[in-house]
Amino acid sequence: MRVALQTLGCRVNEAEIERWSREFRAAGHQVVPPSENPELVVLNSCAVTQEAVRKSRGLLRRIHREHPAAKLVLSGCYATLSPSAAAALGVDLVVANSEKDRLLERVEQELAVATMPAMAADPDQGSLLLPVNRHRAFVKVQDGCRYRCTFCIVTVARGAERSRPPADVVDEINTLHASGVEEVVLTGVHLGGYGSDLGQGLDQLVRTVLDRTAIPRLRFGSIEPWDLPEAFLELWRSPRLMPHLHLPLQSGCDATLRRMARRCKTRDYRRLVDQARAAIPELNITTDVIVGFPGETDQEWEASLAFIRDCGFGHVHIFPYSPREGTKAAELPGAVPPETQKARALSLREAAMEARRAFQARCVGQRVEVLIEGDLKKAGADEIRSLSGYSPNYLRVGVETFPPPTAGSRIMTVEITGTDPQRDTLLGRSIPAADRRTPPA
Ligand code: SF4
Repeated sequence: MRVALQTLGCRVNEAEIERWSREFRAAGHQVVPPSENPELVVLNSCAVTQEAVRKSRGLLRRIHREHPAAKLVLSGCYATLSPSAAAALGVDLVVANSEKDRLLERVEQELAVATMPAMAADPDQGSLLLPVNRHRAFVKVQDGCRYRCTFCIVTVARGAERSRPPADVVDEINTLHASGVEEVVLTGVHLGGYGSDLGQGLDQLVRTVLDRTAIPRLRFGSIEPWDLPEAFLELWRSPRLMPHLHLPLQSGCDATLRRMARRCKTRDYRRLVDQARAAIPELNITTDVIVGFPGETDQEWEASLAFIRDCGFGHVHIFPYSPREGTKAAELPGAVPPETQKARALSLREAAMEARRAFQARCVGQRVEVLIEGDLKKAGADEIRSLSGYSPNYLRVGVETFPPPTAGSRIMTVEITGTDPQRDTLLGRSIPAADRRTPPA
């Protein structure tokens, strides 16, 4: 069967889609882009905001319009929170978040889709287990969350915490590595809570992955700034763990954090930032901030902005607050007017860009290992080629390279020669193997 898989929302949703893609292929189905007349479409929906719900419903209708004959499977947070509303949109099967591990099985049983084991056994299939040119993959290791931040619907949609056994994670990473992936991003809803149901911590999982796989680069997805294991920062003694941490702050003001029911005060957050920077060279810390949370006064906002400036993040994802039905925050008084939200988001964007530019400028002159993205094959042998990819600390780098790499590893030694504010990227030139002993210019 020709199957198209689409997702909205977070990295955990992306990791799930990647896994379903491999499972459908291993079961002998063909995974195709939505444009190639699929017979079955799976949508992994999102419901983190009202806007995300609107987008999920809109995409469902479009899929229906474009592929009226295709069977439609809806999973994800919108399907979990509003199964009947979803079914009313002409969905053939709704698979709640708690059932995601059985999605293929339910599709084959309930939509009478035949399995084609013969094709599954075809060794050439192996290389097709992943879309071509895919060199970074998201691996979900944990789901659910025990906390109740007042703005968050994810904890409601995803349920209690559950962790994947390390052996499963190791197998998946080895399969990915064998298929050409050189970087894996460990994702979860509350990654720091990994192992709470297994009697072990996230640090033990990472050590097991580093011991039992040869994946060159390991990265963490978004990780809440609490419940981190004692020995968390020691993990970076391994050069295979990338020096980037995405630690959602949400607000830099304790009064606002209290109304958000966050488990981390600014003092604790700052201590973690300082300890992490002391322990991990070239560490890039990025974050999420909600602007205009109910009750956020001008004083609270000024305090928040000052704290964020002081932290000097490599990047800040800015989210103007929007009430999400079903969350406690949606009932809170003191809504912040849209124009005030806008003004605060603008001042934060300016402050964040200043910090980002300063962080990028500090990288000039360094030599870093860049994981090159995109198609390598189109260049002529004697052409200087512009490629791009990400540094270990997750900064985009535009790389001038001669001769262009054709096969083998996509990880390239690059000397950072400058920055390009227009494209918000670093600039560099690749260092041929022979010259790597020569110190940077
Ligand atoms: S810790 Fe994260 S996932 Fe859990 S409730 Fe808070 S924001 Fe939601």
